[in-house]
Amino acid sequence: MADETPEDYIRGILAGDRRLLARAITLVESSLGRHKDMAGQVLEGVLPRAGQSIRLGITGVPGVGKSVFIETLGTFLTGKGYKVAVLAVDPSSARSGGSVLGDKTRMEKLSADPRAFIRPSPSGTTVGGIARKTRESILLCEAAGFDVVMVETVGVGQSETAVAAMVDFFLVLMLAGAGDELQGIKKGILELADAVAITKADGANIDNACRARKEYEVALHMLAPASPTWEPPVLTCSALTNTGIEEIWETVCAHKEKLTASGEFEEKRRAQAREWMRRLVEEGVQSRFLNLPEVRDNLETITGKVSKGEMTAAQGAAELLFYLDKRLTI
Ligand code: GDP
Repeated sequence: MADETPEDYIRGILAGDRRLLARAITLVESSLGRHKDMAGQVLEGVLPRAGQSIRLGITGVPGVGKSVFIETLGTFLTGKGYKVAVLAVDPSSARSGGSVLGDKTRMEKLSADPRAFIRPSPSGTTVGGIARKTRESILLCEAAGFDVVMVETVGVGQSETAVAAMVDFFLVLMLAGAGDELQGIKKGILELADAVAITKADGANIDNACRARKEYEVALHMLAPASPTWEPPVLTCSALTNTGIEEIWETVCAHKEKLTASGEFEEKRRAQAREWMRRLVEEGVQSRFLNLPEVRDNLETITGKVSKGEMTAAQGAAELLFYLDKRLTI
């Protein structure tokens, strides 16, 4: 990793060199300072050539059929001549080091497809950290010429919100008849959906899937739509029998067409970029604050006092923030 210059990476990525793309993603994922600097330079260099893909987020509970679906949709797309990248955001890898998504045996066919590039979830300490790496990896994949970037995530916790905020189209996969209809609604995941697809609509499960489709249609209808030009549809699909997959892709394309025509597509990307910058500033300020030596030295003591009731939370916060004020006035 030490020999290449940022220019080598930039040239390689723009030429579609997958080996250098993979290594650039490794730089983006690294927590070493010199790797971060290098990654920053590479990103800056490729940025003018990024942004051209359709960014597709895919979520659903474990077992809903995400990997088989992505393999089927991905193969369909590479068959049409598209280059497809698959990235993952797996919050379980942040918590336990273990992974719900990153199993090596997944998507065997797509892994072997020369038009596809699959990258497992980066490790990270927070969903925010993993999300940053994934966002930057999307840009690298786009610069390397990938037309569709799929970002897969397990439908738990904050990860789906993080992924919805980095993609153009957010597809929520749901199982029929698993009692998860309400669960999905409770978790607010339907509010993020640009479409819902009921998976495994095959064999004896077809009727269940059609019933679930109607239920979700009603549920979605009750939500205020995020876009004035797009009402999220509910579809059914089976990756096993390869039905409904093409319709889902057509839906993604129709969404892009409509929102591009209304100007919402560009505005959504701009809003995502603004929001992302705001988040990065917030995180940066927080980490710089927590790294101030005075804060590091006193945080535990002050937290202890607040915890024992010897100091109010507001007093504790004021005392800690005072160190920041002092720094800022120097
Ligand atoms: P993930 O955890 O969401 O990635 O789910 P997987 O893609 O690993 O699929 C979970 C299980 O559902 C596997 O046993 C698959 O074979 C099965 N499965 C996936 N898609 C379909 C489908 O379209 N029809 C049927 N009948 N089974 C499916």
